[in-house]
Amino acid sequence: MKTSKIEKEIFEILHNNPEVSGHEIVTRKIIIEFLNKISNFYVIYNGVEGIVVGNCESATSFDIGYRAELDAMKLQSGEVFHGCGHDAHVTSLLVFINYVSRIDTNKKIMMIFQSSEEFGNGASKLVNIMENLHIHINNIFSVHNDPGLWPESVAVSQGKILATNFSNVITINFVSKGAHFDSSLQSEVNGIKKTMEILDEVRSKIGNNFVLQIGRVKTNGSYSSKSDKLEFVLSMRSIHYSNEILKKVLKIIIQKIRSIDDVAGIGVKNIINHDRIYNSKELCNIILDSDSFFKFPINSAWSSDDFQNYSLISDRICYFFLGSYTKDRNMLHSDNLLINPKFIVNAMYLYLFILKRV
Ligand SMILES: [Zn+2]
Ligand SMILES: [Zn+2]
Repeated sequence: MKTSKIEKEIFEILHNNPEVSGHEIVTRKIIIEFLNKISNFYVIYNGVEGIVVGNCESATSFDIGYRAELDAMKLQSGEVFHGCGHDAHVTSLLVFINYVSRIDTNKKIMMIFQSSEEFGNGASKLVNIMENLHIHINNIFSVHNDPGLWPESVAVSQGKILATNFSNVITINFVSKGAHFDSSLQSEVNGIKKTMEILDEVRSKIGNNFVLQIGRVKTNGSYSSKSDKLEFVLSMRSIHYSNEILKKVLKIIIQKIRSIDDVAGIGVKNIINHDRIYNSKELCNIILDSDSFFKFPINSAWSSDDFQNYSLISDRICYFFLGSYTKDRNMLHSDNLLINPKFIVNAMYLYLFILKRV
């Protein structure tokens, strides 16, 4: 596999063109340009939800599928950056396609480049499109880099892994009492305070059963006019509860906020909604059969991924982590993330190992 030059080039191009969820336009263009140079792979879908290609023209049933995510993320600083390493995932899949297109295989292979994994329910939308195209995949895999593991390590576990995630943008409008500052108690200050108290109260009751996080808090206030609107992301994750339960908790929170005196209205917009991933025992065993890696169980922590949606079009699914460690303080979802180039080579190696055994 003499691919080191291509993989470095393609990674750099992707890395230098990070785009947020749902806006992966340049990223898709880069992928299509790469695929145009490859024979034996056919584009099945190319649109806002991603790119789906297969090595079999007009087939709808596939032996194996591999998924990579397209999106980068907006960091706290406002910078858009590949802080989750999806650029490395796409690179590994592209270089693998390049390799597979040159070998003889009787397997029907599908490669999926999915939009909006970070937020926007990308898997659900793309799977819906694939269902409409009557696509079925026997076995589907997705790798994620793990900067906490050495590149020679793989983490995989059968059964339920990672967390359920139900996240929403909450917008609260407060009763407007004029644009000018006055000495009376401002309704929005009161409302914001009470909203936070409600969230604190819920948080104290739920204990360790799930996490409740608030992010991207903003108001429409300015220097000389007060705000009458509060917006924040309420992220709920659990490794114990299904998202049906999380939905019920959100309903309670919304009812409580609505009952605050100064609240005029409240809006809820869902941005993430998926269950835990259910890994197939059979597919996990294939990875565990590989002698080339140190194996670890998956540490579910509170991370989550929308990959479970693919079970709607696949018999078996398997999500695993592959080491990408480079140095200390190398973290996912931060501007510290640095992917060890060995990750890309190892991912390709594992893709090929899996392909031979499914
Ligand atoms: Zn991420
Ligand atoms: Zn990710």
